[in-house]
Amino acid sequence: MSILNVARMGNPVLREKARPVERAELLTPVIQKLIDDMIQTMVEYQGIGLAGPQVHEQRRIFVAGVEDGEDPMPLIVVVNPVLTLLGSPTVEDWEGCLSIPDLRGRVPRVPEVELRALDRYGEPMQRTAHGLAARVIQHETDHLNGVLFLDRMQSFDSLTHLNEFSRFWNTEKD
Ligand code: ZN
Repeated sequence: MSILNVARMGNPVLREKARPVERAELLTPVIQKLIDDMIQTMVEYQGIGLAGPQVHEQRRIFVAGVEDGEDPMPLIVVVNPVLTLLGSPTVEDWEGCLSIPDLRGRVPRVPEVELRALDRYGEPMQRTAHGLAARVIQHETDHLNGVLFLDRMQSFDSLTHLNEFSRFWNTEKD
């Protein structure tokens, strides 16, 4: 496995729409290795989600996992996701992105999603997710459509650098 190079905002690869992955292609060693590398890269950089375009791969694949908190989600590999947005109203909460290092901002998202996709072996998967897990799934699916979390913010008033986030906004500590 290897750690992949993560594209940062400004790289046009983050603004293109990724293409679906056919099952036969998904099962090839090349794509299976890509998935392993995406998982390793996400873990290395302590992310909770990573999408294909972020590692210069225009394919509709993302990996995600939330270990802690109220809405834990085991590591999932998601291929060709179709989201149904559930619940209202939208909830604002903090997001960051490995492609936008050092920034955090509050982003409105629906509180619940139904996800239908293929798993890494091409088998259909379906799950509903709430809270942070639903947020991550929406964020990563956006990446597959060339959308970044900044595009979803209603106001940039909350936009903060990481150091200032820790100083002024992080209520999870203590
Ligand atoms: Zn991101």
